[in-house]
Amino acid sequence: MAALPVYHWNLAPDGYATYRQLRARGLRPGGQGVAAQMERPRRHRGPLVAYLYRIDRAKPVRPMTAARWAALAKANAAQRWCPSCRRDAGYRIPRSHGVCGLCVHHEEQRVA
Ligand SMILES: [Zn+2]
Repeated sequence: MAALPVYHWNLAPDGYATYRQLRARGLRPGGQGVAAQMERPRRHRGPLVAYLYRIDRAKPVRPMTAARWAALAKANAAQRWCPSCRRDAGYRIPRSHGVCGLCVHHEEQRVA
């Protein structure tokens, strides 16, 4: 791996931004690797390092489309669906239980 250019803190050339700065512009690295880094010397410790990405290679943060909302709703619904009584529990069923509270209750009664 080639060595990354290292810039002094806040002296990075135009066209580079940290992940946080990208997010503030509604961008994400978009698969690109770290392009450079900034370092700020600290006393008695190694320098503070920030990784920089190229703004021209950044991609917009994907907006929530109708299809993505639908996929999310479907995933949520699947997590709410009780495989034992085959009903929508109305809340996300904890994976440790695997079934809804009612079924856990019935199961406990059966064991008792
Ligand atoms: Zn159930």
